[in-house]
Order: sequence, then C-alpha cells, then structure tokens
Amino acid sequence: MIRTIKELRCWSRQQHHAQKRIGLVPTMGALHEGHLSLVKTANQYCEATLVSIFVNPAQFGVNEDFYQYPRPLENDLRLLQTVGSPEVFVPDVAEMYPAGFDALVHIGGVTQPFEGAFRPTHFDGVTTVVLKLFLASETDAAFFGQKDFQQVCVIRKMVTDLNIPVEIVVCPTVREPDGLAMSSRNRYLTESQRAQAVVLSQSLTLAEKMIIDEKIFNTETIRQKIRQKIRQKIRSKIETASDMKIDYIAIANPKTLDELTTIDSDAVILVAARIGTTRLIDNVLLSIADHR
Ligand code: AMP
Repeated sequence: MIRTIKELRCWSRQQHHAQKRIGLVPTMGALHEGHLSLVKTANQYCEATLVSIFVNPAQFGVNEDFYQYPRPLENDLRLLQTVGSPEVFVPDVAEMYPAGFDALVHIGGVTQPFEGAFRPTHFDGVTTVVLKLFLASETDAAFFGQKDFQQVCVIRKMVTDLNIPVEIVVCPTVREPDGLAMSSRNRYLTESQRAQAVVLSQSLTLAEKMIIDEKIFNTETIRQKIRQKIRQKIRSKIETASDMKIDYIAIANPKTLDELTTIDSDAVILVAARIGTTRLIDNVLLSIADHR
C-alpha cells in the first residue's frame, strides 16, 4: 500500500520502466461490486492497476456527509485481493492538501446544471483531486462508472480542455438484484428507505420502456409531447415512495448535458432524489439509433 505521492511516483516510474501501462481507478473507498467492476476492466486494459482510496474533503459541501462517510479500509483491501490485488494508494488529507494548499481546478459548462446546481462546490473538488491523482500517478488510463454520469462528462471535458494524456474509460452501472444502483451511500439507508429507494431505477426502466414502446421518434408532435410525459411518468413512479424527495429529473444531450426539448437524438435521463438524509442519483443512456 502506498501512502505518499513520492512513493507513488516511484512506483509509477517502475511500471513505465517495465513497459507496463498504468490504469487508475479513483475511489473514496467503502468498496462494492461497482468499484470492483472498474478494477476488473482496468486489469483487462492495463498491465498495472492502481486503486486510489481517498475521501476527498474538497468535494463535500459544508453540510454534507464527509465525517460520516464510511472508511472500512481493511475490508476494502480484502475485497481488492479478490480482483487481482492491484496496487493501492491511500493518502491522508495532509498528503493531498498540505498546509497552504491553494489550487482549484474549475471546469465550466457541464459542471453547472443538475448536480452542480445542488452541490455548487462539488465538481471543483472532484476535478482538483482527479487532476492531482492523474499527475501524481502518471497514469495512462483512468476508469470511471456511468453511475456518476455528469462526473464523467466533467472529467472528459477537463481532459480535453487541458490536453491531459489520459484515456478515460467508462464502465456500466452495477446494480443490486432489484435494480438499485450500488453506492457506498446505500449503507446509510434504513430497511424501509432501502425498500423505497428501488423506485429510482424502476422509474428509469419505465421511461426507457415508454420510449421504446411508443416509438416516439416518429413524429415531431409525439417527440415534443413525450418529454413531458416521460418526466411525469418518472415523477409519479418516484412519488410512490412516500419518503423520496426529488431534486431533479432531466433529459439531456449526453455529451453537452444541454436539456433536450425534443428527443430525436441520443439522450440521457438523469434523476436525483433524497430519502431521509441520503441523496441518491441514477441515470439511463438512450441510444436512439438502437430503437428507430
Ligand atoms: P466513489 O467511491 O463513490 O467516488 O466512486 C468511485 C468510482 O466508482 C466512480 O467512478 C463511480 O462512478 C464508480 N461507481 C460507483 N458506484 C458504481 C456502480 N454502482 N457501478 C459502476 N461504477 C460505480
């Protein structure tokens, strides 16, 4: 296990010297099958996989769960042994943000809507730490989950705008058997909240089915009507869970995250809701070409 940036650089140089490509999987720990799927994909792409475990204070808002966030490091290390024992980087806060640290990576545009509107400082914290991890590890590729769809858009934009030579690989969302997207925050849910949380993924499945069944892309009128209908359908489904409070339901262009007024090209449906003090997000990507 590596604790310092200096040791990390040394490890990375050794990998490159041995002609190995490095694949980085950035995480905040409390690992589950979703994280492990990223590690497995990284193992296929690269000869040397690196998992970072760092609960990044910069991406939490003042009233968010930074202090409560689970940190079961021993269990995480045990889980990583089941997926090829990648190298693990576990810095402490002072290593990443030493006294006097005063930098911020800010990406505009795609950081602004949806999550950005509800968590205004979140993406600056994400891009700052991810860029630091890219530079410290000299990684060749980095692996992210579709579960955090907007985060992927933001990272891609950072990589493009700053000419960062890191390949970004996006892996599908891993779900519980009933459809709930796996998340470290699911462990906050009480039994009743956990039972209700499933409506989020169910609402997206309903919306997807509606789009496919109604062949909505055929006429302009239907295309326009459907957007409202889809949002209504998602809203009604989520509201069947009495404790769920919706933050947003958005239908957007998957590259720019601009909201769509008609659905006639690829689209992503993004939802976020709170249950108790836990905030859950989910999304589905619709490839229109597949359904025409
Ligand atoms: P986190 O530890 O929550 O910051 O997540 C670290 C990485 O794992 C991010 O790229 C997430 O998108 C990804 N991830 C989290 N949950 C899942 C999931 N259910 N399926 C696939 N990837 C996930």
